[in-house]
Amino acid sequence: MDLPDTVSTVRRWIDAAERIVVLTGAGISTDSGIPDFRGPQGVWTRNPAAEKQSTLQNYLADPEVRKAAWRARLEHSAWSAQPNRGHHALVALERRAKLHALITQNIDELHRIAGNSPGRIVEVHGTMRRVMCWGCGARAPMQAALDRVRAGEADPACRTCGGILKSDTISFGQALVPEVIARAMQVAQEADLLLAIGSTLQVYPVAGVVPIAKENGAKVIIINNQPTPMDELADALLRGPIGELLPQICAG
Ligand SMILES: [Zn+2]
Repeated sequence: MDLPDTVSTVRRWIDAAERIVVLTGAGISTDSGIPDFRGPQGVWTRNPAAEKQSTLQNYLADPEVRKAAWRARLEHSAWSAQPNRGHHALVALERRAKLHALITQNIDELHRIAGNSPGRIVEVHGTMRRVMCWGCGARAPMQAALDRVRAGEADPACRTCGGILKSDTISFGQALVPEVIARAMQVAQEADLLLAIGSTLQVYPVAGVVPIAKENGAKVIIINNQPTPMDELADALLRGPIGELLPQICAG
C-alpha cells in the first residue's frame, strides 16, 4: 500500500475503534524543538558521554555531574516548547471519546499542556517539570529549584532533609515505578487499537506494550520515521512527518 491508501485505511480503523491506546516517544516532540536521544540528530548519537552522565549512580556520587545537570536543566529546550500538531491531534482523539490511555516515554508534559486529561496519561519515565528528593522522597515543582540555581546554588539540596534533588524522571540505572509500568501493561491489554508514535520501541519494558496489545487482539499501527524492531507486528506502518500524519488519521 502506498502512503495515501495506508492513511485512509488507518482512518477507518480509528473511526471503528473504541479503546485506543497511544504510546508516544521522543519523535512526537521534535517538532516542538525538543531533540530526541537516539535519532540521527539525537542527543546521545552526537554526544555519547551525555548518556553516561545521565546515569543515576554518577549523578548521586559526583557533585560535578549534578552541577552540570542543573546547568543543562536551566537551558533545556522544553521550557519554551509548545505542543505541536501531533500533540493536538491526540487531544482531538480524546474529544472523540476514543482515547483509552496515552502512555508516554516523554518527560516534557507536552501532552498535558496540549489538553489531554492527566488521568489518561501514563508517564513511564516521569516528568522533568518536578524535582524529587533522593533522601526523603519529597516532590516539588522544578521551577522553584531552578530559581535557586539562578540565584547561585550550583547544586541545591532538599530544604527538608538536605538530600540530593534530581528531576522526577527515570535516569539510567534507576528502577521504573512498578505501579506505573503495571498500568501501562494493563491498558495495553484493554486496547482495541494501539498507536505507537515516534518511539524507537527499543526500551523495555515499555516497548512490550506493542506485543501485549497485539496478543490481546488490538490492531497495531506504528508511526515513526525510522524502522523499529516491532515493525513486523504492525498492521500498518506510516513513515513520514508525525505532525502531518497524526491530524490526518485522528480527525473526526
Ligand atoms: Zn528531602
